Amino acid sequence: MENYQVAIVGSGPSGASAAFHLAKAGIKSIVLEKETLPRYKVCGGGLVYRGKKDMPFDVTSAVDITFHEVDVYMGKNLHFKTHRDQPIVSLVMRDAFDKLMIEKAQEHGVTLLENCKVIALSSSKNGVMVETNQGTLQVQQVIAADGVYSQLAKMAGWEKDTRTLIPALEYEVEVDPKNFERLSKEIRFDIDAIPGGYGWCFPKKHHLSIGVAIIQKLKDEQKIKAYCAKYMQFLGIDEIVDIKKYGYQIPVTPRLDGFVKNNVFLIGDAAGFADPLTAEGISNAILSGKLVAKAIEESKGDLKKAAANYSKIIENTIMPELLTSMKLAKLFYSNKTVRKFLLKKYGQRFSEALTDIFMGEKNYPKNVNEKIKEKLKELVF
Ligand SMILES: Cc1cc2nc3c(=O)[nH]c(=O)nc-3n(C[C@H](O)[C@H](O)[C@H](O)COP(=O)(O)OP(=O)(O)OC[C@H]3O[C@@H](n4cnc5c(N)ncnc54)[C@H](O)[C@@H]3O)c2cc1C
Repeated sequence: MENYQVAIVGSGPSGASAAFHLAKAGIKSIVLEKETLPRYKVCGGGLVYRGKKDMPFDVTSAVDITFHEVDVYMGKNLHFKTHRDQPIVSLVMRDAFDKLMIEKAQEHGVTLLENCKVIALSSSKNGVMVETNQGTLQVQQVIAADGVYSQLAKMAGWEKDTRTLIPALEYEVEVDPKNFERLSKEIRFDIDAIPGGYGWCFPKKHHLSIGVAIIQKLKDEQKIKAYCAKYMQFLGIDEIVDIKKYGYQIPVTPRLDGFVKNNVFLIGDAAGFADPLTAEGISNAILSGKLVAKAIEESKGDLKKAAANYSKIIENTIMPELLTSMKLAKLFYSNKTVRKFLLKKYGQRFSEALTDIFMGEKNYPKNVNEKIKEKLKELVF
């Protein structure tokens, strides 16, 4: 194989974003992808505005529908609606979206090798030897963008997985025209559609992406399929024309033992960068791809500096947000009574705050615990 400075493994949003920014910086890179594009990825495909506005190119051609309003429900009686002038969520099918992203990187000179599975990594004098099913290549750095089940992390020396992985189901459901008309008018989140988590119904061009995620670990996780079936009943879906059912995991806490080892950099789900409260992972996948490219570019070929740059940049940007969101998620999902109590009184404010975060207009509040305790005191006394 030709000579490249960086090998990016995985062509999801994190890998494609890293590839795009490296190419723009003039760094010779190759993307190794085990599948052939376009490929299906289990995902609701909800691209929040925070992620969309961070994109360095227009993604309209890969967007099915945009929503300027978001509906948050808790059971049948609590309903909160937020509205923004810009689209809060753009709904995409990941096969088209990921393909568009990688094509944009290719336009800037990145090489894409499909059907290319990385099977081993080893340290070499000037970087890393990458063994694939199509041969071996020597690079200075490897970016592991290989998703939640990252084998690259294991190969590079992360022996223990310190992320929290949560189960999630995604059903691609074609319903009868009457139900499609009714349910495709809104993008909805149903808190408590599943114990310790939430459900969603995301309309796409011709079908609905319906799913559930268990954010707070449950003893009876095996019941997740039954919960999803119940959620579809709750949505009033009585006629299914076609259904494809998928199960996958989402990493909702970051790794605790660093994001760079032996010139291998972890980004996106491989690093554990999905948001702990919402399980939304596309934005931070895109952002971490951009940040790793910046760290490598600014190191000007100094391998140690690139590693130090990336660690520092993540500690200062993504990590503080994730740590606060982790606290909020623990409070929010662990106690149903407190959650209902707070949402009854502050549900609209909570939905507005979450929408501001989706829009990238606000960060998570730093003193979450104190703020919630304050609100509880106000309510009780
Ligand atoms: C059910 C469900 C619903 C979700 N809904 C949303 C949502 O609505 N909005 C949102 O923001 N996030 C959502 N997420 C999270 C989101 O899907 C992920 O956070 C995001 O895909 C992470 O991107 P990534 O680039 O890190 O990894 P991925 O998108 O998983 O891409 C990894 C790529 O690496 C390739 N690969 C893996 N191993 C190898 C190898 N050894 N060699 C070569 N290639 C390899 C894979 O084929 C794949 O293309 C959801 C997740 C799930 C499970």
